[in-house]
Amino acid sequence: MKFRELTSCIVETNRAGEVAFRTQEYKERKSFQLFALVCGLFIYSLFGFLDAVVGGPETATLLTLRFAVALPVLILLTTLFARTTHYNAARTLLSLYMLVAGGSIAAMIGATSGVLQFCYPIGVMVVICFGAGFCGQDFRQGLLVNILLVLAAWGALHVSEAPLWIMASSLGFLSSAVLIMAVASATNEVLARARFAALQEAREASSRATDLYHTSLESNHAMGQFLATVSHELRTPLNAIIGFAEVIDLQIFGPVGDERYVGYVKDIQHSGRHLAHLIEDIIDYSKAEFGEMRLVSAEYPLRRSVEDAIRMCEGVSERREQSLDFDPYPGDVDIIHTGDETRIRQAVINVIGNAIKFTQTGGRIGVAVGLDAQGNAVIDVSDNGPGIPQDALERVRQPFARVDDAYRTDTQGLGLGLSIVEKVMAVHGGTLDIRSTPGQGCRIRLVLPAGQIATAPAM
Ligand code: ADP
Repeated sequence: MKFRELTSCIVETNRAGEVAFRTQEYKERKSFQLFALVCGLFIYSLFGFLDAVVGGPETATLLTLRFAVALPVLILLTTLFARTTHYNAARTLLSLYMLVAGGSIAAMIGATSGVLQFCYPIGVMVVICFGAGFCGQDFRQGLLVNILLVLAAWGALHVSEAPLWIMASSLGFLSSAVLIMAVASATNEVLARARFAALQEAREASSRATDLYHTSLESNHAMGQFLATVSHELRTPLNAIIGFAEVIDLQIFGPVGDERYVGYVKDIQHSGRHLAHLIEDIIDYSKAEFGEMRLVSAEYPLRRSVEDAIRMCEGVSERREQSLDFDPYPGDVDIIHTGDETRIRQAVINVIGNAIKFTQTGGRIGVAVGLDAQGNAVIDVSDNGPGIPQDALERVRQPFARVDDAYRTDTQGLGLGLSIVEKVMAVHGGTLDIRSTPGQGCRIRLVLPAGQIATAPAM
């Protein structure tokens, strides 16, 4: 980029920032400034008493200057200020207001003599402070107006041949007022700009964050659809592969000849079933993630459903020589849950399946059903396996999160089971609680809300 292009780019950017800053300032301050100007009119008129009390022979001149000349102009400027919608015009009107108010007081200094000459410069000082402080006049214009007012007051003192001590002290007081108000209004402006810049930055950051959020939502949705579509497409041919492997294994249409083929088709069936299981997980997960988990709610006995889940897992735990015990507390009461039985059973199977999968051969697994003190139904699955490290307790709820350490020899699974369980519980208004003492085991608790629970005598 050439130097000229670069500078024009900076100027443009600053100009845009400046316009935004001015617009914001204008909006924020206008009503207060208008209020200040009206107060100014009131204070200015009030000082008419001073003219009347101490004016002596100059009273008529002073009152004419104040009420016949300056006040109408000030009222006109206030009205114009109230009507304008343009920042620059409002800024100029504000400065003109101070110039007229202060200028008229300077004229009054010129029209007076004696001790009065010491009173009126104080009035100019009030205008200086009022403009820069109360009204929040623009720093550069305010400084210019104030310097002009000091010069006018000093010139008036000079014209009316005020004694030197009045001229010197008035100049000293007025210059200090200009200086103090210049510092105050410069500080105000710097602070206002800094506040504005911070606000702009915060707005931009928040809009970037919103954009990123929408982008991530879209890509998340796209990923979910991709997973669901691919899984669907894989499921059909996979079922055919498993089915044909079974036909060959059973040698329905005649013997296969070489015994090694029988071993191979068993491997095909085993791997196929494993793959089918993973695909089911992915489909369940994408449905849960994208709100397509439709619940078929009905009343069912929770204990019977958990028993069914245990029965489905028993074969694997027996092969691993693990004990799988069930504690159906309270034994004489059936807990009736109103919800989607299939989903809940699937969640229980996932949790028991994990306990079996991650607990060593010969380990102990316990399943219990009961009610807690609040009347929620509770399904606990405990094991004495390797447990989950404390720092992974939250992570394992996330999709595709697994713990890889030396104690976990089972590498099967995609890390979707617990996130599906959590979603199933969430759509039922329930929770998933995971507790673990590493090296000693795990307790996974599924809680279903009391509002969906009823009890009946056990059949
Ligand atoms: P997957 O079983 O497919 O790996 P999950 O989401 O069901 O996925 O579990 C996530 C991880 O949590 C598992 O990989 C495992 O490391 C850990 N985990 C879950 N249940 C247990 C358990 N009963 N004992 C030890 N670790 C467990």
